[in-house]
Amino acid sequence: LNDPQSIIDADRAHVWHHLIQHKAFETAAPRIIVEGKGLRVWDIAGKEYLDAVSGGVWTVNVGYGRASIADAVRDQLVRLNYFANTAGSIPGALFAERLTAKMPGLTRVYFSNSGSEANEKVFKMVRQIAHRHHGGRKSKILYRERDYHGTTFGALSASGQNERTAQYGPLLPGFVAVPHALEYRRQQRGANYGEAAADAIEEVILREGPDTIGAICLEPITAGGGVITPPDGYWQRVEEICRRHGILIHIDEVVCGLGRTGAWFGYQHYGVRPDFVTMAKGVASGYAAISCTVTSEAIFELFKDAPDDPLSHFRDISTFGGCASGPAAALENLRIIEDERLVENSARQGERLIANLRALQDKHPAIGDVRGKGLFAGVELVADRQSREPADEKLVQAVVAECGAQGVIIGSTNRSITGFNNTLCLAPALIATPDDIDAITETIGRAIGRVFG
Ligand code: PMP
Repeated sequence: LNDPQSIIDADRAHVWHHLIQHKAFETAAPRIIVEGKGLRVWDIAGKEYLDAVSGGVWTVNVGYGRASIADAVRDQLVRLNYFANTAGSIPGALFAERLTAKMPGLTRVYFSNSGSEANEKVFKMVRQIAHRHHGGRKSKILYRERDYHGTTFGALSASGQNERTAQYGPLLPGFVAVPHALEYRRQQRGANYGEAAADAIEEVILREGPDTIGAICLEPITAGGGVITPPDGYWQRVEEICRRHGILIHIDEVVCGLGRTGAWFGYQHYGVRPDFVTMAKGVASGYAAISCTVTSEAIFELFKDAPDDPLSHFRDISTFGGCASGPAAALENLRIIEDERLVENSARQGERLIANLRALQDKHPAIGDVRGKGLFAGVELVADRQSREPADEKLVQAVVAECGAQGVIIGSTNRSITGFNNTLCLAPALIATPDDIDAITETIGRAIGRVFG
């Protein structure tokens, strides 16, 4: 029944993968991953890999093969998994309490199933607030070039990756782009780049009219768009500008949340006080499909008069959102992160990761920029260090493939961002040891040497 070749044939014939992968399958068999333990995974042919991207898209924060999470989910499934989120659950209540304890100023958790959905929830709340409290004005939502927020239409409309999103047009109205803040490819001049990049947001606000804008949606560190750490002074200025214009701040922690960057949440490095925080991947490290939209009591209060209204927020019921097995997995995931001090480990090993990558940069002229925080790093490859011309995408993909051949799985920027698809992305599980970090960076160094000479 489990003849590997028959599985590969069935996959090739019937599974609709991302189309980029189908292109790769013309020359190589589909990669079918069958097992994982810690940071390591095995494919169907028995080949072992060190996974430096936590399940491809930086999700499995606590690593593979966690029996205690499986036990928590199993116990909950047997007891009761499903009752619509018109009712509460024990793990839902406990997880909401423990999660918000890590997020001063925020008190309320709305459960859904994916990062995209958690973001949609915010967009809908912002629109509802506009209708209820601002006579329909303040309905626009700002988003940033290169940020990504998900697969659904609202999330696509809020994603700053136009080459990717244009194919689905027309997108939703009322989403307005602001410039990115990648210092290495700075668009604004000025003594303090962080403040100049934030001021560029205010220019958009003034052009659109502050009374038309309800919220801004930002990743704390842009993930798929190239691991863009914010420049100094940026977040403080963004917050000050938004408060001055009455614009709510929505931070998308789908990637950065739950320890990835060496803090519980990415925004906590920068001292921002968000109105909405969304999270998904690390919430249950991929052991369950659960996402959260977290907000403040003040926002919750804005909806309190709603129950009589048949179109109210309170009727926005997602069938599977809040299924008890989700928060059951999330609770155990949170316990592991706390007990094993994985946030601290992420910060500590992250320093080693960046130091190793900087040492590689000294050796390889193809490395133009190294950036990151905690166990989250980007390595921007260039054709020429002086002009900063991006490296040819084919060479970037050759480095990714060479690492894979050497048994280390790494990622790269979303390939649809033309001219910006030249960054290698690293996000190993938060349990990584110094040996794991060294193995990852040594392999990358060898691969860059082989591809770029
Ligand atoms: N926000 C960010 C920052 C993401 O990286 C992603 C997924 N890569 C999403 C939202 C969407 O999450 P999901 O795929 O769970 O819908």
